[in-house]
Amino acid sequence: MMRQYELVDRVLGYDPKADEALINRAYVYAMKQHGSQKRASGDPYFSHPIEVAGILTDLKLDTSTIVTALLHDTIEDTGATMDELTRLFGAEIAQLVDGVTKLTRIELTSERSKQAENFRKFLLAMSNDIRVLLVKLADRLHNMRTLHFIPSPEKRQRIAQETMDIYAPLAGRMGIQEIRDELEDLAFAQLNPEARETLLKRLNEFRAASGDIVKRIGESFQKELVANGIDVEVVGREKRPYSMWRKMERRSISLEQLSDIFGFRVIVDEIADCYKALGILHTHWPTVPGRFKDYISTPKNNGYRSIHTTLIGPEKKRAEVQIRTRKMHEVADYGIAAHWLYKEKPGGAENAGEFANTFIWLRQLIEMLEHGSSPEEFLEHTKLQMFSDQVFCFSPKGLLITLPRGATPVDFAYAVHTDIGDTCVGCKINGRHMPLRSTLENGDEVEIIRSQAQRPSPAWEGFVTTGKARSAIRRSIRMSKQIEFARLGRQIVKATFEAAGKEATDSILERALGPLHQSDMNEMLSRVGEATLTAEQVLAAAYPELTVRKTSSRKGKKLNGAGTGTTVIHVSGRGQDLAMHFADETFPLPGERIVGIMTPGEGIVIYPIDAPSLAEFDGDGLRWIDVAWDVPSDAPQMFPTRLRVTAKNEVGTLGNVASLIADYGSNISNLSMAQRDSDFYDMQIDLDVRDLKHLTRIMSALNGLSVVSSVARSRR
Ligand code: MN
Repeated sequence: MMRQYELVDRVLGYDPKADEALINRAYVYAMKQHGSQKRASGDPYFSHPIEVAGILTDLKLDTSTIVTALLHDTIEDTGATMDELTRLFGAEIAQLVDGVTKLTRIELTSERSKQAENFRKFLLAMSNDIRVLLVKLADRLHNMRTLHFIPSPEKRQRIAQETMDIYAPLAGRMGIQEIRDELEDLAFAQLNPEARETLLKRLNEFRAASGDIVKRIGESFQKELVANGIDVEVVGREKRPYSMWRKMERRSISLEQLSDIFGFRVIVDEIADCYKALGILHTHWPTVPGRFKDYISTPKNNGYRSIHTTLIGPEKKRAEVQIRTRKMHEVADYGIAAHWLYKEKPGGAENAGEFANTFIWLRQLIEMLEHGSSPEEFLEHTKLQMFSDQVFCFSPKGLLITLPRGATPVDFAYAVHTDIGDTCVGCKINGRHMPLRSTLENGDEVEIIRSQAQRPSPAWEGFVTTGKARSAIRRSIRMSKQIEFARLGRQIVKATFEAAGKEATDSILERALGPLHQSDMNEMLSRVGEATLTAEQVLAAAYPELTVRKTSSRKGKKLNGAGTGTTVIHVSGRGQDLAMHFADETFPLPGERIVGIMTPGEGIVIYPIDAPSLAEFDGDGLRWIDVAWDVPSDAPQMFPTRLRVTAKNEVGTLGNVASLIADYGSNISNLSMAQRDSDFYDMQIDLDVRDLKHLTRIMSALNGLSVVSSVARSRR
């Protein structure tokens, strides 16, 4: 266990002005508070906060963070309170400890939605202070290092999975590669021990066969670079088992094919030296095509910068090389933690910009959280966003937008601005018109075409990949639906009141709010449109003296309310009306009588009056509502319908049927056939017609064909 003076020495080593007395006070306080508590390993509990603090000294964090690490379990596991911590250590530290405690509580709850909800609150709370998250990561790292002491396999499994899903990607997003690698490896050891063992065994064989190859290759690189006048440090390392495993899985290749067993970091002083070193390496050793990435000119979202390349290096071994300056190297190791240090230093205008950039993903997350609806939705997005690789795209003005792999132009539009997403109608990728559902590739230039008349389409939700786009689309559709439902609700209420001989003015409707426990008129009307409240309830609440007959039969319904034969709702049939739609496979056509069924959450579902599937609503009279077509006879609009045709199995039968339908100005949208017996076919034909008259003409013409033996409409 690390001793008090060791911890203080480490902090003073990088921060001579650190508040030594405060660290000592926290050390003693935490030790007293945890008292005789024990870890699963049998160690005194207090060894844990010390180790967590130690991990954070590797990231060179400030005194407050180190003190927070020492105190991080005192609220959760001992009698310590916020008040006490505030009194003893100040409000800043007390709030940091409180933040860590909140996340710890999430780990203790098993219910999924609770977890996401708390995670959400936590992220919001700590968005002002990234140090909370750094302490939590260090806490998780130490718990993973000691995971094998936990006796329950289920618990070990859960913790390892959570680490893989949430914490390792989070460390990656924050740019702290060292912690990410170690977390992944420790989780990998729990989740897939056989795979890890196999990899380690093969690696050992490989090492035995090739000696200290990492050192030899590194020295060759160094020699060549120094000979060309570059002041350089070359660091060689073997990749961790998990990162090898992931690459093998992703690219479906074997260990032998994996180029990344050896990684080398070439660390120089200036950016210019990076490109010079690259030139020298590329001159002396052949490169592996497709493996060159310049993250110096195009940094990753988390602020990471380096040049990546893969060479067929000395001894014909493939070697991955990362070239970077010393400062980039620090950022790569410490990520946000490094920015945290730079932020405090003077003359850091350039660094401040980088720092702000690092937080873009965090801000996006928070924006989504503030508008999002369900916690599960959030957790799903968090996981997706963290896991995906990224693609870099550009706006026509050269603005760089980073998106998860698989992102579409709609994601791009929302990433630039919510307004741009909401109003996008089309796009050009690299100057060519492309569908909005296209998948973007690295380096694409994306131009979004907008129209103020556009609203997000529900179909977009099916192909966007970013949480930001998805929640913006859902939000917008939710709003449009509310408006549609309210409009529909007002129409229904008005007709119901008129049928009862009453007026439905706003002031009268307001009287219904109280009795129905509604606070807002639009919300009440929208609930009527959405069918979670009936117009009869509104009528009864506004006029309590009226006794509205409660009916349960369809016939009874016809005697009051909307069923008086008064047409309440007009169906234009555009099919885009969010508050009403046609029942599946019933194919109502203009010219035939239709009826609406109020369906909670969906509004009005339209059926032809003789649809067989209507029978299920017979006992539910209050849900029936009179509707009528409102389609001008000269409208160009067509409606889908379905025919069942039995025809002779002769050469040319299908051709005759199809050309007849075409002659009548209709279009076949789908067709399937089954042979009934050797002489006859059963055909199911989906076609578009203008109205019932149009369909009737087609049906009698089909009946007139000698090969056709029967024609009937098909519907549920
Ligand atoms: Mn802890």
